[in-house]
Amino acid sequence: MTFPVVGMVGGGQLARMTHEAGIPLGIRFKLLSDTPQDSAAQVVGDVVVGDYRDLETLRSFAQGCDVITFDHEHVPTEHLRALEADGIPVRPGPDALVHAQDKGVMRERLGRMGIPAPRNRLVRDQADVAAFAAEGSGFPVVLKTVRGGYDGKGVWVVREADDPSAAEPFKAGVPVLAEEKVEFARELAANVVRSPHGQAVAYPVVESIQTDGVCDTVIAPAPGLPEAAAVHAQELALRVAHELGVVGHLAVELFETREGELLVNELAMRPHNSGHWTQDGAVTSQFANHVRAVLDLPLGDPRTRAPWTVMANVLGGDFPDMYSAYLHCMARDPQLKIHMYGKAVKPGRKVGHVNVYGDDLDDVRARAAHAAGYLRGTVVE
Ligand code: ADP
Repeated sequence: MTFPVVGMVGGGQLARMTHEAGIPLGIRFKLLSDTPQDSAAQVVGDVVVGDYRDLETLRSFAQGCDVITFDHEHVPTEHLRALEADGIPVRPGPDALVHAQDKGVMRERLGRMGIPAPRNRLVRDQADVAAFAAEGSGFPVVLKTVRGGYDGKGVWVVREADDPSAAEPFKAGVPVLAEEKVEFARELAANVVRSPHGQAVAYPVVESIQTDGVCDTVIAPAPGLPEAAAVHAQELALRVAHELGVVGHLAVELFETREGELLVNELAMRPHNSGHWTQDGAVTSQFANHVRAVLDLPLGDPRTRAPWTVMANVLGGDFPDMYSAYLHCMARDPQLKIHMYGKAVKPGRKVGHVNVYGDDLDDVRARAAHAAGYLRGTVVE
């Protein structure tokens, strides 16, 4: 058999790093990208520029692909069903992926599975929001558009019934999910990878620190998390992957309450920011395991290479020339691993990340923060 072709829909950094992980395996890659400048389109040889919302574009892209996978969740579910009906393996398939596409569907399904979550309800208008709050613990309430949100876009915290922001979510014309605002102690993520024949691996549970709804730092493993809680989170993620029939990487984002309870926030069925640390800190990265899973190859070892790995995102700042910061960062820390996405620097935009691993968490964390800050143009001591 010749080496297979993985068709990747979406040209962002997740596609770029998945492609990178397939190179040593000789896996061929075909990319459907919005523009020739997208992060992955800059590095993949076989690029189709087109609109993933158009079924005919998807159909012609799928010609010559052995499997289709994704770097985002936004391909219409009915198009994925049409591709499957054409006989093209779509991984994850639409019946699984819909739970990462639609927060309402996800909440309903996980609720039926008895998985703990913030109290929630689909709402149609501000009166529904007020009723939801009154029946529970009151305001604040978190409102979310069920489809299309990312990095906190599509999430509003409403502080009172006539809060002006309470009208915003309803303007998009899509259903809105209301949730109690959880006063969580921190956010965790349980990352697993599952293949079509049902093999699955679980990465160590990580802590994910967000600033303004955007992931800033990930610490692997989550410091101070009791082993029983870590195992519970891994089992929960494996169960979700199994029952939903997920193929590929699944990130289960969790809230850890002050009492130590774990509530599911959301699901992502693709490589995820909370798994970027695995590129340098695990025996097999999330990207390599995603490629293996969608091709139904045996999965690689998810265990860590060092006691601690810290990933810090490099967000765009006021300083556009990040390359000029390499001299300082590389000279200061020869163990630093820099991953840049080839994206134009815009304030707040994720343009890269760094990974640092070692034995001492405080040291590893400080080095990652310094490098990410320096690349951005903010010097962190
Ligand atoms: P997105 O799809 O944009 O990533 P999320 O549902 O993950 O949206 O929400 C983004 C962030 O908003 C979360 O990481 C968390 O910090 C906060 N958030 C979301 N839901 C709640 C909630 N019910 N209670 C408290 N904070 C929340």
